[in-house]
Amino acid sequence: MAIFEDLTTMGHEQVVFCHDKTTGLKAIIAIHDTTLGPALGGCRMWDYKSDEEALRDVLRLSRGMTYKNAVSGLNLGGGKSVIIGDPKKIKSEALFRTFGRFVDSLGGRYITAEDVNIRVSDIEQVGLETAYVSGVSSRAGGSGDPSPVTAWGVFQGIKASVKYKLNKDSLKGVSVAIQGAGAVGSHLIEYLVNEGAKVHVADIDPEKVKANVKLYGAEAAQLHEIHKLNVDVFAPCALGGFLNDQTIPEIKAPIVAGAANNQLLDEGIHGAMLKERGILYAPDYVINAGGVINVYQELSGYDAEVAKKKASGIYDTLLAVYKQADEQQITTNAASNVIAEQRIQSVKAMKDLRNTMNNQNWVQGNRGRGR
Ligand code: NAD
Repeated sequence: MAIFEDLTTMGHEQVVFCHDKTTGLKAIIAIHDTTLGPALGGCRMWDYKSDEEALRDVLRLSRGMTYKNAVSGLNLGGGKSVIIGDPKKIKSEALFRTFGRFVDSLGGRYITAEDVNIRVSDIEQVGLETAYVSGVSSRAGGSGDPSPVTAWGVFQGIKASVKYKLNKDSLKGVSVAIQGAGAVGSHLIEYLVNEGAKVHVADIDPEKVKANVKLYGAEAAQLHEIHKLNVDVFAPCALGGFLNDQTIPEIKAPIVAGAANNQLLDEGIHGAMLKERGILYAPDYVINAGGVINVYQELSGYDAEVAKKKASGIYDTLLAVYKQADEQQITTNAASNVIAEQRIQSVKAMKDLRNTMNNQNWVQGNRGRGR
């Protein structure tokens, strides 16, 4: 595998392979870019088929965090880590504490958090060995479950999209089809219904559908029908890769805006397909950034109200993305990449200037000493 070729193409700064014979820990920490601040991104545990698969995943995910943190206006770089193995078999206190020591050895260049198969209690064990953890429970002074703030950000993102596409300031009477009534989806339903939106919901778990019908008066929809409904907004809040060759032609909603990660099966092809069909797409990593915005607040002392207020900024961020996409005649997902890259480049340029000035001072100082 041409590792350095991949790192050059994707622009990573550092990749750390962590191994411990006693606990069986096999982990990779990828730091993509620290221009804007320490690299923050969750730790995922997965039973990868090969080490290459794990490496590819952590490289892709860490790069994604750079873009998400940059476009969200956070003073954070992008990073991610993966622990290789079956979560049902390998989890132990010693394994997480050993991982914590590896995180600590990076001196704050990487800050970890929960991701797939990593619970708050796991991250708290990591935190016994390093201060560079986030996403700890509210009991331990952390931000706790991020899903209410993620849902609030998605709600604001839907409002921005409805304003941009349908020129409506309120969601009263606006219809939204929600795929997946999990942690984020169910909070989102509550926010939408409270503002007078008409909500349709589908989930593979019929109990979750029933609960939302009962609690919020949502309308139950068939699993295979939810994205085809004649509504204003389709909100994918379950799976990645759902926007693809087969589903995009079936979508009738003029707006796709939901919480799920990696919604486009192929960013280039399917972003363009949505644009050609005149569907306004809220780039997933912009609209679902409430979770990382929430965790970021831990760094300055967590306050739930402040976190929610910051997540409201997703409204303006998305409007800026849509404007950029229109001006440049590019897809919305390409536009958000451009905004993220511009921010990073501008700060990089600023740092370069400072380095040049420092070098000049140093040269002048040395000249002085030589006289
Ligand atoms: P969750 O597991 O609590 O909810 C997902 C829901 O989707 C579950 O109720 C599940 O039954 C349902 N589901 C699965 N497959 C389905 C299908 N084919 N059709 C309909 N429903 C289906 O997860 P969550 O925390 O609510 O996250 C939802 C999405 O948002 C995920 O893609 C996640 O990566 C993303 N996300 C979550 C957060 C967060 O703060 N939790 C932050 C950013 C992004």
